[in-house]
Amino acid sequence: MRLAIKSAGADGFLISDIKNIRYLSGFTGSSGYLLVTEKKSWFLTDSRYATQAKEEVRGCRVKIYKKALETIAAVAASMKVRTLGFEGGDLSYDNFLKVKKALPKTRLKPLSGAVAALRTIKEPVEISLIRDSVKVLDKGYLTAQKTLAAGVREKDAALLIERSFRESGGDSTAFDTIIASGFRGALPHGKASDKRIRKGELVVVDMGVVLNGYNSDETRTYCMGRASAEQMKVYSTVLAAQELAIGKIRPGVKAAEVDRAARGHIEKAGYGKYFGHGLGHGVGLEVHEGPSLGPNSTDVLEEGMVVTVEPGIYIPGWGGVRIEDMVRVVKGGAEVLTKTPKDFVCL
Ligand code: ZN
Ligand code: ZN
Repeated sequence: MRLAIKSAGADGFLISDIKNIRYLSGFTGSSGYLLVTEKKSWFLTDSRYATQAKEEVRGCRVKIYKKALETIAAVAASMKVRTLGFEGGDLSYDNFLKVKKALPKTRLKPLSGAVAALRTIKEPVEISLIRDSVKVLDKGYLTAQKTLAAGVREKDAALLIERSFRESGGDSTAFDTIIASGFRGALPHGKASDKRIRKGELVVVDMGVVLNGYNSDETRTYCMGRASAEQMKVYSTVLAAQELAIGKIRPGVKAAEVDRAARGHIEKAGYGKYFGHGLGHGVGLEVHEGPSLGPNSTDVLEEGMVVTVEPGIYIPGWGGVRIEDMVRVVKGGAEVLTKTPKDFVCL
């Protein structure tokens, strides 16, 4: 286990976030805990997962429980854990109280973010899983281009695209598919609705796939029919902003500086107030994870991180444009993982 719990001021760490458990132990099921001490680690789960745990879990002993927190407390007590770290953002208050009651002499200390920080840097095997997920997603955009047309309901288009993900091997969608046409494009998270796509509208399509636990996330914006001068201007502004930001990415650069590059360009073009969200986020076992590429982020990019770069312009009543790619931070720069072309496609 690569966790440095001692330097965090604890001699035991109870991990309850199931994605963190997967990351550290290899367990892909949906229920269990990890208890890490300086000397030994345990993966604890219930009998439904006994076989799966034996097959998947590496680097720790497997223990099957009937009552989760009581068993965990007994193991912690047997290891004489004096300060037990826990994940404050994940362990529920009820469960916290149970642990506290079962371990009255142990100090409980929140160690939030300890595993999340490790997860920001992707190992080669993770990069390869992310590439597989991206491949399925890029194929989905071919289906999107064939499916989107004036008269089609957003939800019907989403269904056909999601079906194509499944057909090309995807396990599930990473989030509710966003298809936001016309005025709905001004909603950055406008998931597919009953609205029908109309001629002359912009359509924002933001989709993600999960494959073998790893997420992908990408956005393209299409125009239905001939684009107006303003639609072209907004599109080229967003694209140039995104390319400026990608050009800034390299190990050692501040995430806020990458955001600044995109935001500055959009401001200069006069659309600053229409770009309200952060520029991007990390992607891995979760579709939104660290680091954060926003104006207030204190993160610094490092080799091996995988992040999205997704500037947008959202004009109420008019519509929106967002372009999102996944980028891997490599020595000296960035590698764009998502391969769907970015020319302004008018269908
Ligand atoms: Zn997205
Ligand atoms: Zn995203």
